[in-house]
Amino acid sequence: MYDELFGGEKKRKVLVVDDEEINRELLGNMLDDRYDVIFAENGKDAFERIEEYSGMISLILLDLMMPVMDGLEFISKYNEMEIASKLPIIVMTSEVESEADIIKAGAVDFIKKPYNMPEVILARCERVIALFEKQQLIESTEIDELTGLYSKDFFFEYIRQMNESGLVDEINMNVIAIDIEHFHLINEIYGHEKGDIVLKEIATILNDLVKSRIGIAARSDADTFYIYTDGIDDYQKLFEDINIKISNIDKFPSSIRIRMGVNKSIDLNESPETLFEHARIACNLVRGDYMNQIGYYDRKHHDKQIYNAKLVADIDKSIENKDFVVYYQPKYSILNGDPILASAEALVRWNHPELGFISPGDFIPLFENNGLIQKLDKYVWECAASQIRKWKEKYGVAIPVSVNVSRIDIYNPELENVLLDIVKKSDLKPHDLHLEITESAYSDDADRLIEVVNNLRKKDFEIEMDDFGTGYSSLNMLTTIPIDALKMDMSFVRNMHRDSTSLKLVELIIDISKFLDVPVIAEGVEEQSQVDTLKKLGCDIIQGYYFSKPVLPEEFEKYIAG
Ligand code: C2E
Ligand code: CA
Ligand code: CA
Repeated sequence: MYDELFGGEKKRKVLVVDDEEINRELLGNMLDDRYDVIFAENGKDAFERIEEYSGMISLILLDLMMPVMDGLEFISKYNEMEIASKLPIIVMTSEVESEADIIKAGAVDFIKKPYNMPEVILARCERVIALFEKQQLIESTEIDELTGLYSKDFFFEYIRQMNESGLVDEINMNVIAIDIEHFHLINEIYGHEKGDIVLKEIATILNDLVKSRIGIAARSDADTFYIYTDGIDDYQKLFEDINIKISNIDKFPSSIRIRMGVNKSIDLNESPETLFEHARIACNLVRGDYMNQIGYYDRKHHDKQIYNAKLVADIDKSIENKDFVVYYQPKYSILNGDPILASAEALVRWNHPELGFISPGDFIPLFENNGLIQKLDKYVWECAASQIRKWKEKYGVAIPVSVNVSRIDIYNPELENVLLDIVKKSDLKPHDLHLEITESAYSDDADRLIEVVNNLRKKDFEIEMDDFGTGYSSLNMLTTIPIDALKMDMSFVRNMHRDSTSLKLVELIIDISKFLDVPVIAEGVEEQSQVDTLKKLGCDIIQGYYFSKPVLPEEFEKYIAG
């Protein structure tokens, strides 16, 4: 089947590992017509070649007696490696007695030295490669039953083979993902049978598309399709062509819309899996977007991914080296007379040793996505607690500090114990540490959140609902959620003097806080006029650049002293 696809032109790569030059030359000459032969001088060298030609080598011919790393050591190391598909190894030996050991170790066959029967050697190589490839194909289910397109694994394997064959110009191939908007709704409204028809018809359209080119198509999962093909220079036109075909199918619900993701940053070092993962990311960039239905993954995303990967790799080291620095922003009570320092919010920054100063907006969402936020938050909470303790010793009062508790932290069954430990270590009371939980976390899993918050409050922690007004809490829900303060989202204050709706919402939020009998905190207050209005409306506490930006503890002390 491969040969059919590649028109028999494919020359597979064989790696010859032998320390003696004369042997390498001999084997090279024998195999050279049929295979693309590459060489290594010992086991260590072989590992480097395998990495260099990752996924492109079809067979290893291995000498046993070599300096640096001998054949058996190579095989045992190779077997320990975690790679999806192992290469077949033929051992070349003059010691017939070690045959059993060789096969036991994991080689599939052996060739006796000296090499005086080239046709036998060639035949053995061919047989082993054919067997091995066949086995790999059998292991993956070739065809997606519903659509008749390739299944994902087989598709990726095929791409590797296509690339390896030299038949396609990898760098100019098109890597495209296609998704159906709101497919689950189609299933729900029209039933699964209709949903299946939609998938089949789209599969047919995509199959026709690649048939006329050098290309293949697959259904990745559910309603995501992948195509790998040459010869596309106008993605907009391709998109429209597909859409016209879809709209011409009369059995279709009229509301079918697709979106497309194109990976425009083909990196030859990346696996087909990664290339298509990036196309899928591009496709999701335009999810639900009525203006743009084609998303592109380009250099910018690529760089961002590499940047993010670096951040993820560096978090532990940076926590250890104290590269994360906690800043404090004062909150002032404005109710009576002159503003009085009421508390502070702890906000983390990253002084990255190579990348410089990084704001939380650039790493918090990333760490929330992969759960690492729990580690960082714990570190920030510890810093904040020990800071409260230091100030208490210096000034005789515990200034309450609020810390941010990510929605992810809520799912940590140990959350309460972690927090209790932290306050205990700094010899504080739980109510010295306020916990800010964003309103939208309440809509993730309200029951769970209410339970967690209730328990924390029983232990005497104070809970502030952060970014209030951006979530969807109903008044009804609010009355059942136990909280100690509302933090109005910054956007309301920002727009308060620009549009009357925002001003009305500020009034409403202040009313809600009165109804719940908790103080309301306004964030992002920058101007005197905002302070005046908020004060008039009955807002209790203000946080913002008007008083101070978040600052280092030393600088914060001037607010305590003065
Ligand atoms: P947030 O909790 O809503 O924090 C308020 C943000 O508004 C902070 O941004 C603060 O510096 C900024 N801000 C305060 N006053 C003003 C003002 O007058 N004008 C303007 N334009 N901005 C003001 P920052 O420090 O960049 O933090 C961004 C977000 O990152 C925070 O939003 C919070 O959600 C998150 N974050 C920060 N530190 C932590 C942390 O230790 N743990 C967790 N989980 N999240 C954190
Ligand atoms: Ca906050
Ligand atoms: Ca906030």
